[in-house]
Amino acid sequence: MTYTYFDQDTLCRMIEKKEQFQNFIDVIVCEVHAFFKNFHDSPERVSAWGHHYFCKDDGAVLIYNENNPNSHSCSLCGKEFNNIEQLNGAWISMYRNQAAINLWKSALLFKLTNNEIYFNYIMECTAFYNRHYQQFKLHNKEGDQFESLANMAWGCGRIMPQALNEAIFLIRMIHALQLIRKHIPDNFMNDLKSGIFDKAFLLLRKQINKIHNIPCWLNSAIGIMGLFSSNNEMIDFAFNGEYNINRQLTEGVTADYFWYEGSIHYNFFLLEGIVHLLHFSRLYEHGFQTGLDYVKRMLVQAYKYAFNSHQFPNPNDGWPDVNLKSYSYIYSTAAKIYGSGSQIAHMLSSILNTDVPRGTFPLSSPYYFQNDISLEEFLFAPAVRDKKTRIKNDESVNFKSSYCGLVKSDDINIFFKYGHNGPSHAHPDKMNIEAVVKGNILTRDLSNSGYGNRFCNEWHRVSASHNTVVVNGSNHSGFQGGICTYFDHNAIAATAKNVYTGVTFERKVEIIKKGFTDHFSVYSDKENIYDYLFHVQGTVASPLKTKSAELGYQDNGYQYFSDVQQVLSGNEDCRITWLVGEIEITSIIDLKDKQLYIASTPDNPVNLCRKTILVRTRAANSHFAVIWLFK
Ligand SMILES: [Zn+2]
Ligand SMILES: [Zn+2]
Repeated sequence: MTYTYFDQDTLCRMIEKKEQFQNFIDVIVCEVHAFFKNFHDSPERVSAWGHHYFCKDDGAVLIYNENNPNSHSCSLCGKEFNNIEQLNGAWISMYRNQAAINLWKSALLFKLTNNEIYFNYIMECTAFYNRHYQQFKLHNKEGDQFESLANMAWGCGRIMPQALNEAIFLIRMIHALQLIRKHIPDNFMNDLKSGIFDKAFLLLRKQINKIHNIPCWLNSAIGIMGLFSSNNEMIDFAFNGEYNINRQLTEGVTADYFWYEGSIHYNFFLLEGIVHLLHFSRLYEHGFQTGLDYVKRMLVQAYKYAFNSHQFPNPNDGWPDVNLKSYSYIYSTAAKIYGSGSQIAHMLSSILNTDVPRGTFPLSSPYYFQNDISLEEFLFAPAVRDKKTRIKNDESVNFKSSYCGLVKSDDINIFFKYGHNGPSHAHPDKMNIEAVVKGNILTRDLSNSGYGNRFCNEWHRVSASHNTVVVNGSNHSGFQGGICTYFDHNAIAATAKNVYTGVTFERKVEIIKKGFTDHFSVYSDKENIYDYLFHVQGTVASPLKTKSAELGYQDNGYQYFSDVQQVLSGNEDCRITWLVGEIEITSIIDLKDKQLYIASTPDNPVNLCRKTILVRTRAANSHFAVIWLFK
């Protein structure tokens, strides 16, 4: 059967049948008119990095108001930031993102209605960016501007503040153009080819110089431009260039089929870039077998990586509180690529069929109607919602080459990260664990709060915000892999050398009846201060005898510990009962030759806080043991 961009008959049938789909259309009609009737942009306006778009006081994301380019208010404290160049620039990036998404929606509406107004919106907006493309200042996310490609720093865009965002903009624009392709006059197509496509190719190709998620997106944009405009040079570059897309996958994806940067968000972000190219490759019958093989396996593995609740463990950089549903838009495009009867389409159905609300991203969001139906699902997989598939993901798994694993019982899920594949987007969090008990999150990784936010580097990216051991108050220094020394359905253990120079960590977590045990050993040839940390997403429910205390460190995250209390236990085992979500959990902490502290530390978002257990000892070799039991 011929591969088509989308299946219009199925979509129309679903719109007739489902009120929610009809509402989707009603809403995008209003949004598209509102956007393009007021469309205003100029190459004089220089875009800035979206990661600046956070409140300087509390780190919360600012509210983007499409009608107000110079005023930005905090989503948390409500403070208004007016006429600040960097924020205005970030607003422009978001506005242009909206332009690209509205182009795509407008093209869909044109296909469904044949109303020329939607076609004209696309032609006018695209013509604007094409006509002025070279007038947009060559600039980067740091705010530096450059006269020419010859002296440009790596990372530049023109319309957008980074080549990465430029690629995303172009891909979305071409999705729109693809939908109206047979109506595009030849002279307009030729203008695009010699204009924005050629110029963007020169800009992007120079920046594809390593195995990394950004060059993947750039390759994808170049490949899609090439396929769409029949430019063999671009196609050849994307698929056969030095750092081509096949090489990115074969070298950048681990043997367990995860992107090497060790973050589930970057894993999916990478996949998002690749599925666009796969879709266009199928459409233009350009062989991309490596992509077909890798993407399918990566999507299956990512499904297994989630907790039973579909919430994701969240190591390294990304956004907090993401779940499988956060990425349903990527599974949707893939469901089109692999077919409506494929394993991926069934996984998408299983993702959509859960009751958990979708975890959102504060920046670079895909388009979702009511945070439920993505534009991609609507276009590419409209009938999947009718499937009733439920695919279990309750198996314990160990991803040795990605240095992490999950042990799962019906009541307890524990994620364990025991190593890194290098420093890119990594947090110094070796041996970190995340745990879910009877559906309640006991502890999780905070990921981060956006790179422009000061809490990102000062808290979310330090060792002390993780459930690990901190030595002498400083961050872990090594980003090498670790070694899994034991794994079965209920237990996982690992060791990592040189977490700090000369310091070895060993940890074992094991699910037991109504709880789990945690054993953490540290070895060094000299005496150190060891702080075992565990951050609880709950409150202390048992009375504790304490006295106010100081931890003695003022940086590497310790400056954010507040209300520090030393627990005066009197016993070698200290029992603390916690209220975590709906359940009571007791921790039994071994305190032989150790002191126990409890403090408050920031969560993500940073206006919330967690209760942190800190067990301190001074020794060369030491062992920490905690048992967690639920009622
Ligand atoms: Zn604020
Ligand atoms: Zn982290």
